[in-house]
Amino acid sequence: MTKEKNRIRRELLQKRINLSEEERKRLSQKIVENLKSLTEYRKAKKVLLYCPIKGEPDLTPLFEEVIREKELILPKVNGELLKLYKVEAPSCLSPGAFGILEPPEGDEVSPEELDFVAIPGIAFDLRGYRLGFGKGYYDRLLKRTKAKKVGVAYSFQVLERVPHDAWDVPVDIILTEKFVRRLRDGLK
Ligand code: ADP
Ligand code: MG
Repeated sequence: MTKEKNRIRRELLQKRINLSEEERKRLSQKIVENLKSLTEYRKAKKVLLYCPIKGEPDLTPLFEEVIREKELILPKVNGELLKLYKVEAPSCLSPGAFGILEPPEGDEVSPEELDFVAIPGIAFDLRGYRLGFGKGYYDRLLKRTKAKKVGVAYSFQVLERVPHDAWDVPVDIILTEKFVRRLRDGLK
């Protein structure tokens, strides 16, 4: 299982890293547009986004708007867990584990409070299963939230099937530059 997961990770991560900066930006803009059109996003108050690494879709152009109109929450690596903090300004972020921009420690937000979670991944399948970097951070987080779980990826990262283990938590919606796919019962 791990071997098969790793084979897909290697292949798709390489493909993503090989995107030109221009292409990444173009696709990310479309993803941001599609995200903004989601009812689940419009209704959400507490929104967990992420800071991109290794060619992940860039949602940072959304940060200011979320700070103004909602609450922007970002994760910070803490041992095996992601701790969540509300962010008041993008300028307060600084590089942390794995070179990811992280929020300063402030008032911690618990996963139970979140309404909307954007989850990056290396691959997703049409059942919502996800391959991350292989450390299980989002699996540990997602099992603790009732938020809408939105997998964010380029369309070439969405496969018909990816291997999954007992602990893998599937997403509710897959969002790409080309399509929005709802996987579980409609609107919350
Ligand atoms: P990823 O989701 O990052 O692609 P995996 O699903 O392969 O990675 O999980 C990586 C590791 O994380 C596994 O060894 C697994 O034991 C651990 N893990 C995942 N979810 C949990 C959990 N809920 N509690 C404890 N360990 C977990
Ligand atoms: Mg997993």
